[in-house]
Amino acid sequence: MNQPVDHEAGLIRSLELKSRLLDLDLDERKKTFAAFDQYLDGFLAALKSGPAFGARSGKSEGIIEADFPENPSDAGDLIALLKNHLDTEGINPASGGHLGYIPGGGIWPSALGDYIAAVTNKYAGVVFASPGAAMMEGMLVNWMANMFGLPCTAGGTLTSGGSVANLAAIVAARDAREIKSAVVTQTVAYMTEQVHHCIDKALRIAGLGEIIIRKVPMDEKFRMNISALRELVESDESNGLKPWLLVSSAGTTDTGAVDQTELAAEICQEHNLWLHVDAAYGGFFILCEEGKEILKGLNRADSIVVDPHKGLFLPYGTGAVIVKDRKDLYRSHAYQANYMQDALKFEDWSPADLSPELTRHFRGLRMWLPMKLLGISPFRAALSEKIFLARYFYRKIQEIPGMEVLGFPELSVVPFRMIPEEIDADEFNLRLIAEIHRDGRVFLSSTKIRNQVWLRVAILCFRTHLATIELCLSMIIECLAKTRKHFEN
Ligand SMILES: *Cc1c(COP(=O)(O)O)cnc(C)c1O
Repeated sequence: MNQPVDHEAGLIRSLELKSRLLDLDLDERKKTFAAFDQYLDGFLAALKSGPAFGARSGKSEGIIEADFPENPSDAGDLIALLKNHLDTEGINPASGGHLGYIPGGGIWPSALGDYIAAVTNKYAGVVFASPGAAMMEGMLVNWMANMFGLPCTAGGTLTSGGSVANLAAIVAARDAREIKSAVVTQTVAYMTEQVHHCIDKALRIAGLGEIIIRKVPMDEKFRMNISALRELVESDESNGLKPWLLVSSAGTTDTGAVDQTELAAEICQEHNLWLHVDAAYGGFFILCEEGKEILKGLNRADSIVVDPHKGLFLPYGTGAVIVKDRKDLYRSHAYQANYMQDALKFEDWSPADLSPELTRHFRGLRMWLPMKLLGISPFRAALSEKIFLARYFYRKIQEIPGMEVLGFPELSVVPFRMIPEEIDADEFNLRLIAEIHRDGRVFLSSTKIRNQVWLRVAILCFRTHLATIELCLSMIIECLAKTRKHFEN
């Protein structure tokens, strides 16, 4: 059975020759990097005049047609594939003209952070494996906890996004308040109808699909009605139910409404409710003066979720959960395994003990690098700017006869709709959004509020400035004319 040794060695060496191709040498790296960097330069330059949205035309399908080759491909061919099949359809989130849903970011230094994190491939899950990477993440969490005014017991972790962060918080709240299967059907959570759907998803994933969910009535600004909340909690308590969780939204996705967390916190304290604040969209506005005023009371939260890939303008892939007492997050997520025994000697908090993930991207660097490199002040300015742009749009859109708006924007979302004469308003506004999508220079999305069709602008991309809003307004006026024409025919 034994092969001759020199044959074995020969085979291994020939495999090595091939496998070494995975470890590109300096020349190869420089050449390849330059090619793709040039592609990116072109991509960024095109943002200034290119569309924010391209309707589906079948071009993307080309990406699935090309199979993997056995041997290397030419970088230029691959760049052509990206240009033709990736960059042509759908929303362009890097464009300042992305004013739909909640826009994300994509600041360049963050991409550089990702690149460094990937090349060095630090193991950010466990303190033992990379104390620096784990501590950098801890430092970022502390910075956010401080920003929200949480006590020094607070802790948390960076996640892939707000949905997973909300799940981690809800699991921590479940275990901290001992919501075991015997009491699930008597357990009550309170939130408004405007809460993000990932909360409902998280409750179900957490095994809490059978709790009682009270949709608390809202005031005219789509904020939780605090006296209605008090009545619901008191009546549930006197009926022998177990009020457990209050979800306060600091910036709802649809309308940008900010629940009055400060007032809700009083009720939570009186009735021992876990106060969870979903600030995925709105949280970072606390960095600017206008936002600080609007986001009062977040310091009283038991847990907060915030999305750096929204309000800190990072590329997609970074959310954060922060819990007032980090032991609560640890209780639900810590683990032990025999093969991890070396890691257990350290007393620090490892990210892996605070979230469902073990091995993960070193995502701290994409947040740390831009804030060190650029300083915080451009972030504060950009957040203020977005609030003022929303107020400007709110004022200007009302100059168009027949436009209806909801209340004055608290943050940077402005819903609006046209009330035409003689045509059903929903039908008209659905046609209007279709015209806007066909145009594509600026991307907006529509929604249903009070069972009516509304359009909305959501201003959060770091590349959105006054000129974008002016373009948006003139595009809406052009699309209104096309919509009217459609109904005339
Ligand atoms: C975006 C958002 C979420 C979900 O976060 P993801 O990062 O998309 O997973 C949750 N809540 C609110 C209020 C949001 O705006």
